[in-house]
Amino acid sequence: MVSITVVEEKKSKQMLSDPVEYLVSQGIPRDVAMKMVTKARQKGIPADFEIPGRVQTISESMWNKYFSQIKEAFNEVITELKSLPSIDERRRWLLENARFGSTKKTILATWRIPAMITCPGATELCRLACYALKGFYMLSPALAKEMVINLLASLLPEFPDYMVPKIERAVRESIKNIARAYRELGKPVPQKLDLIARLHDSGDFYSISHLIAWLRKLGVDVNELSKLLGIDIAKLPEDWYVRQWIKIAKKLPHIKFYTYTRSWRIPELVPALIEFASLPNTTLYLSVDKAMPPHEIEKAINLAKRYGMKIAYTGMTPLTPAILCKYEKEKILKVAKPTPCAVCKICAYGSADVVFPIH
Ligand code: SF4
Repeated sequence: MVSITVVEEKKSKQMLSDPVEYLVSQGIPRDVAMKMVTKARQKGIPADFEIPGRVQTISESMWNKYFSQIKEAFNEVITELKSLPSIDERRRWLLENARFGSTKKTILATWRIPAMITCPGATELCRLACYALKGFYMLSPALAKEMVINLLASLLPEFPDYMVPKIERAVRESIKNIARAYRELGKPVPQKLDLIARLHDSGDFYSISHLIAWLRKLGVDVNELSKLLGIDIAKLPEDWYVRQWIKIAKKLPHIKFYTYTRSWRIPELVPALIEFASLPNTTLYLSVDKAMPPHEIEKAINLAKRYGMKIAYTGMTPLTPAILCKYEKEKILKVAKPTPCAVCKICAYGSADVVFPIH
């Protein structure tokens, strides 16, 4: 009996360490799995597998274009702030225009801030295949402006109180999108739909020093911005932004908040992230990828085990039992209507560690 268990354990370890075998174990046909692995190797990206035909590697010029759009949005927002006569009015303008909302595409109510300048834990893989830049050429000036407003609003002390009713409204409004998603899949709509808020379909939990460094790179005068908003941005604690979300999640215990983060790589943010993850209504996925040294990945796995977090593997063979993202799997299998997150809900409830192929 004991030897059978040992053999099976060995077998499962063998399967997990081989990307093709892992993909096959998740229901991907062997020829497709082999193609996924070969493609990633050919490109030399730090990943075990990718979805052939769906990967758009991000070039330096694409990043430059993205940053110039974000810079433009900062200029526009700061000009608007300057046109308002008082600190109170500027703050109110930001808070009123901050948007937490769902769209037909996102289905779930979602919060977004500019990628990379809010991603202190970004890796080389993020630079090559940032998920938030996938629809890069479609980043409209309006979307760039929305993300900049969201980011600046999150610096304000009154952000949590102001956002609570907005999030409540947005999440309740998203219910109609979720019901429609069920109907489109031909599934019965549950009588009671879960209230779910997704954080950061673009961006991450930023640290204040990382943000300030980026603002300077973008040519934003941090002192002038501080004066306009009546706060000394440089004096805010490093984990300010994570703590804003802890306050919000505590005030909305009936809403499930979930997100993925690489900010666990920033030691100053870890205690606040643990606190966020320990709330009864949150799920925190620690994202890992092969651009990280193995000891760091191990650290994430240990953190997750210890504090009830989950692991999201990006393009890599998992080191813990993990499922292939349902939506991505169905896309690979060319299912006509892949199951969206709002219906799958594995991540919202942290039911499993998850693997995402690069796409
Ligand atoms: S596993 Fe499910 S909930 Fe998680 S990202 Fe994939 S489809 Fe969405």
